Order: sequence, then structure tokens, then C-alpha cells
Amino acid sequence: MTIFEFNKRFPTEESAIDFIIETKYKDGYVCPKCGCIHNIYRSNVKSRNLYCNNCNSHFSALAGTIFENTHLDLRMWLYAINLVMVARKGISACQLQRELGMKSYVSAWRMLRIIRNTMSKEVYTDTFEAIVEIDETYVGGKPRKENKHDERETNEKHNKRGRGTSKTPVVGVKERNTGRVYAVVANKNEEGKQISGKQLFNVLKKVCKENTLVMTDQLSSYNILNKPNEKNLIRLMVDHNVMYSLGNGIHTNGIESFWAVVKRGVYGIYHKVSVKYMQSYMDEFCFRMNHRDVDKAFNALVDLAVAA
Ligand SMILES: [Zn+2]
Repeated sequence: MTIFEFNKRFPTEESAIDFIIETKYKDGYVCPKCGCIHNIYRSNVKSRNLYCNNCNSHFSALAGTIFENTHLDLRMWLYAINLVMVARKGISACQLQRELGMKSYVSAWRMLRIIRNTMSKEVYTDTFEAIVEIDETYVGGKPRKENKHDERETNEKHNKRGRGTSKTPVVGVKERNTGRVYAVVANKNEEGKQISGKQLFNVLKKVCKENTLVMTDQLSSYNILNKPNEKNLIRLMVDHNVMYSLGNGIHTNGIESFWAVVKRGVYGIYHKVSVKYMQSYMDEFCFRMNHRDVDKAFNALVDLAVAA
């Protein structure tokens, strides 16, 4: 939504509250105290409250949502959600602070973190089918040497490319037909291994339906898929020698282009992302990629925001 569309849709705070309450109680009001579903009304004193005529109690209509404890005008929250969905590469806390005219950077940062955690609620279990691509990449840490202004500070250890760097490893899967993506941080396991065959298989096992074809590069960890497995996932390996000449459709270009979007966002907008928050940033990039229509994306995100 543009600012004009937003203002038309939510001209007052009441309209924002109405929208949130309608979204949360699609199937009707429920009293959290007595469990009744009849004789519950909007409070005419406090617009964020509901009133149950059965047990004679007032309760917050926003309880259990991300809006529960906020004192801010709820249009600010909805506008922030809209901005997060519209900004293709993401939005920094600094920019959000400016857009909303907030006094505190920390409040803007916290708001973004809450919105990002909401995107993490999206469920990907058993959703991808037919053909998927899988690939791994390394994100975060210091920028590579060529991007750095002061080369004297460059520490070689932190600037290696690809496998074997100190950046955070991330595994991504993309469904060919729909373009939907799923990305998960793959930190070292108990044995100190990262991007092990088992880790990669577990990612696929979670998101893929049975009998999915999996396109991978030549990394030996993917050899685990050469053996029969419980989901009957079948590996098709990219052969760099014949790939372009034969045009056989076995490639991982789709998931690689997702990495390009992620990296433009992480390095261009967020600058540095610590390992601690990396997964929630990945969830944000996936959510945006998986909800391309921004108006539907806005509604989908508010749906998650009000889900208990
Ligand atoms: Zn009640």
C-alpha cells in the first residue's frame, strides 16, 4: 500500500483497531474468562476492549496478539507491517524510526524484531513438492575485502569466500513450480560439523513431500541423498560440464538468485546481522519472497500477528 492507500483504508486509529479485532475474531468473539461465545460486545468506553455479558467482565480484545502491550497508535504498527512487506530488501530500524516519526530508535528496533518474529510463525512443514532446488551459502560477518574501505583493517580469516569462512551457514530450499523458499541457519552440530549430510537431509525432510526431486550441486554432503531414504527424495546433481550445453533443467539457479536478494538486504540494509538473529532475518526474506502480492502479504502478516 502507498501512504495514500493506507490513509484511505485506515483513516483513524479506531479503523485500525476494528481491522485487527475483525481479523482476530473472524469466527466470532470468545470470552477468555467463561469461554462463552454469545453476548460479547465491543466496549463503548475502551475501543481495545470487549465486554462479556455472561460473566460480566471486560477483557482486552488484543490479548495474545503482538499488539497487546503497545501504547502506540495501532496505525503505526499496521503501517510498519506494510513497510516491511513493501521494502523488497528489508527496512532498517533507522528508516522505520524516520518513517513513523518515532522518538526512540530502540522502540523502532523492537517493533521490527516483533514483526520479524511474527514472520517466523509461518509454517513450512511438508509444503514443497515435485521439484526443489537446495543450496547453501554463508551470510553475515564482515564484508569481503573488496567491499571494505579501509583495507588495512581487513582480517583474512574473516574474508574467505564460501565454505570454510567464519560467516553463518544457511541452507535454502526453493520449490520450482511456485518459487516459494525456505531458509534455515545450519550451525555446527554436536560433533562440530556444519552443512553435514544429515543436516541437509533434515531440512529437506521437513519441507518436502514424499517423492520430491531434489536438485543439488556437487557438494559431497548431498551424497546422503544417493541412498534410499524415508521420504523417497531423489537427487539430481548439477553437472557443470554439461548443464548449459544440454539445457536439461538440472540447476540451482533459483535458490542462488534468492541468496542474491538475501545478501543485498543483509549487507545493504542491515549491514551486519549477528548469528543470534540470523534465523529471524532469513524468515523475513522467505516470508517476503513467498508473499509477492504485497496487499495479500499485509493481510497474511496481520493474520499471524493476531494468532495466539
Ligand atoms: Zn465471559
